[in-house]
Amino acid sequence: MKLFIAAACLATLAGLTGAAAQSYPSRPITIIVPFAAGGPSDAIARILGERMRAALGQPLLVENVVGAGGSTAVGRAARAAPDGYTISFGHLGTHVFNGAIYPLQYDLLADLDPLILLPSNPMVVVSKTAIPATDLKGLIEWAKANSDKVTAGTAGVGAASHIGGLYFEQRTGAKLRFIPYRGGGPALQDLMAGQIDIMFDQAANSIPQIQAGKIKAFAVTAKQRLKAMPDIPTVDEAGLPGLYIAVWHGLWAPKGTPKDVTAKLSAAILEALADPEVREKFAALGQDIPEPAQQTAAALRAHHEAEIKLWWPMIKAAGIKIE
Ligand code: ASP
Repeated sequence: MKLFIAAACLATLAGLTGAAAQSYPSRPITIIVPFAAGGPSDAIARILGERMRAALGQPLLVENVVGAGGSTAVGRAARAAPDGYTISFGHLGTHVFNGAIYPLQYDLLADLDPLILLPSNPMVVVSKTAIPATDLKGLIEWAKANSDKVTAGTAGVGAASHIGGLYFEQRTGAKLRFIPYRGGGPALQDLMAGQIDIMFDQAANSIPQIQAGKIKAFAVTAKQRLKAMPDIPTVDEAGLPGLYIAVWHGLWAPKGTPKDVTAKLSAAILEALADPEVREKFAALGQDIPEPAQQTAAALRAHHEAEIKLWWPMIKAAGIKIE
């Protein structure tokens, strides 16, 4: 009898889960963005979220959870109920670098289910307009001559903007004074205002301000120039060969989110990535959209694992760590 009741309860539960998945989403979905509003992560998540709303019939609300290089936000997402109503937006910094730097209370691979690999953008070495240098070699000379005085804005310890700066230090011998912000958005505001000297900034954040003449650009951390701003030389051309950083993005769901729910989310993301308007917005921000064959959960998992293998030893060897 007891067994029968247990089986009946399980069947009811399974039915409920199935029914819940069928009506999913029946309320707004929260995208946890690990940096401040107005920055590159926020911009990309909002472009996607807006278009996903059309596909899913429910709003996607961006929640900016800042702090600790984005690790607070990812922890919150990893611990959220796996019901499809909370998803984790992140990038190379939050989902790779942080694992080598912070003593995380969650496992970046085991506690999150990958949804889709999202666009990627390189970084741009930028400065306030008052810096006298006109090219990267000049900037390096100037940074070395002012060693320990040059301020570099970052989106937080361990953020891509920080790691980019550390590699610059390693390659040039110039010492920088890193100033952490709640995200690339507020750091860029201070760069434009002349409060800080330089930034290793995601192209998505800097492009509009470079175009407006509000900051100076010296090099792109990629093998190829940006399609959106072909005048900026690559690091190979400008004097720091091989300093490549591609800040790729992704969306994850808390581990154990039902497959029929993640399938609906993934379909909505794919629809967004195929939309010409969305593609145009990404292109204007220097974002390269992965090829259709790469727009999968498996591709995100494979790239995530490969990037952890590539970067963790380099970061650990550079001695970057938060206790
Ligand atoms: N993605 C960060 C932001 O949106 C910037 C960074 O990682 O450097 O602020």
